[in-house]
Amino acid sequence: MSFETALNSLSGQVRARAEKLLDAFESGQISQGTFITAMADVVGQARAQGATYAVSVLRDYVETALQAPVAVSPAMPPADLKRLEGAVVTILGSDQDTRMQIVRLATGETLDAAHQAYGESMEKLPMVKGWTRGVDSQACELCQWWGRDGRVFRPDHVMPRHKGCVCHPVPTITRTSNYQNEKQAANAARTNMRREAKRGNTNVA
Ligand SMILES: [Zn+2]
Repeated sequence: MSFETALNSLSGQVRARAEKLLDAFESGQISQGTFITAMADVVGQARAQGATYAVSVLRDYVETALQAPVAVSPAMPPADLKRLEGAVVTILGSDQDTRMQIVRLATGETLDAAHQAYGESMEKLPMVKGWTRGVDSQACELCQWWGRDGRVFRPDHVMPRHKGCVCHPVPTITRTSNYQNEKQAANAARTNMRREAKRGNTNVA
């Protein structure tokens, strides 16, 4: 699954769950306290899922390039339940549209956690020498400009993004190997021949 497909589908799911919870609260089915705790829980879980999806997309890139399995240590984001509860409380106390803010919190947190885990995991992989911007299919002009016509950025350069952006860094992978390249091998062979000639081991007339 691509980064974009995975994240869009997850955003859709968390959005639906969040709206259902809000419906239950607004109709008096659950108390405000339950709503706050449950909402933080739903968003916290989506953060963890987003991170897992993102890291598995990263693993696919690396394994495809290396044609070998690779261990990608996932940088799991904290569930952050207390912080999320605080965010829900703030939304309930605000004058702005509650539903719009709840949806924005749920989807924004999910994407943020995914991007963060992806970036942090990528930075730890020695074979990743840089990245290009994988521009999402609905990319706005800003995202396209940020792609700089496929420029390769350093691994530790944090990809700029806007709210809701599902662009992602596509890693540039170099096989790290101890094997000599052809030129090095040829040089080494010549050096060996010279050494052996000096030692008189060759049958030079
Ligand atoms: Zn974007």
